[in-house]
Amino acid sequence: MSQPENRQFRLIRRPVGHVKREDFEFRTEPARAPEAGEIMVGVEYLSLDPAMRGWMNEGKSYIAPVKLGDVMRAGGVGTIIESKADGFVPGDVVTGALGIQTVATLAAEGCIKVDASLAPKPLFISALGMPGMTAYFGLLVVGEPKSGETVVVSGAAGAVGALVGQIAKIQGCHVVGIAGGAEKCRYIVDELRFDGAIDYKSDSVPAKLRELCPKGIDVYFDNVGGQILDDCLAQINLRARIVICGAISQYNNTTPVKGPSNYLALLVNRARMQGMIVFDYADRYPEGARAMAGWMKDGRLKSREDIVDGIETFPETLQKLFTGENFGKLILKV
Ligand code: NAP
Repeated sequence: MSQPENRQFRLIRRPVGHVKREDFEFRTEPARAPEAGEIMVGVEYLSLDPAMRGWMNEGKSYIAPVKLGDVMRAGGVGTIIESKADGFVPGDVVTGALGIQTVATLAAEGCIKVDASLAPKPLFISALGMPGMTAYFGLLVVGEPKSGETVVVSGAAGAVGALVGQIAKIQGCHVVGIAGGAEKCRYIVDELRFDGAIDYKSDSVPAKLRELCPKGIDVYFDNVGGQILDDCLAQINLRARIVICGAISQYNNTTPVKGPSNYLALLVNRARMQGMIVFDYADRYPEGARAMAGWMKDGRLKSREDIVDGIETFPETLQKLFTGENFGKLILKV
């Protein structure tokens, strides 16, 4: 059988600072036929994540860097074209590490079959997929919010942040989001029912935190790091929990990452600052996805996707995460 054509982005250079188109080669080659245990997937939607910037760097992390010459790693959702794996048949819809390409041939192990009759496919890489699981387990297991407590989340109009704030509202918390720009701030208050919003691009974050969190901060869910982390640490309560989910303000640094200088607030308040990686909760994803789907069905949780058409736009579309041009979970339609 003649193999379909596969258009793909391969990483050919380690980016310095912001990603450039020249860091990749965009090429077309025949898709590889699956071997025993593998499936060939027609890729439909790809998840663009801030973490991808870190995967391009050399050095130790929670996952090996993408090797130079390899297809750029990315989560995605698509439909099986051909299968040499038990339990997977053509027509099945799967999510997995499909990569920035139009056809992925990969081990079925590690892919998850999803029921595409239950929700639109992009949702399986949004609220019902990795960002949803990050918000669910990051907030509930690491943040441990209790009813009546104050939860602050940064990156609050983004994929993870918008879900964190809504889950915190469902837990009965007072929720304040930090986001860039008036439109995103209006959205999280008017549409998502956060109790307050801070526009870090025009407000004084410390002054607004004092105004909107009069009882102090019990849980800070950090997506951005940098100065905003320091500003929040300055207003934490006794036994506060700080969830270190990400630090997008630092990912394109060409100088060392800026660490918190206010860390003695942890000592004084006997507070806890803890990193989390969503993959640690992989065996509990069915529980998380069930809860998220239930809240969506009840109208208590909204998911917003920002879908950009065309795999060929990959380098420029990825950049939107770092300029704040995305509004909702950034997805590339293949
Ligand atoms: P996202 O929030 O949908 O998009 C990124 C947003 O970050 C942008 O829209 C922008 O929003 C904001 N941003 C960009 N540069 C910034 C800066 N210098 N200062 C403050 N905000 C900035 O992305 P996401 O996928 O939900 O990811 C959010 C965070 O979660 C990232 O740090 C990511 O690495 C992390 N994450 C961690 C895990 C894990 O397992 N630990 C899993 C998934 C994601 P504004 O317009 O509001 O500035």
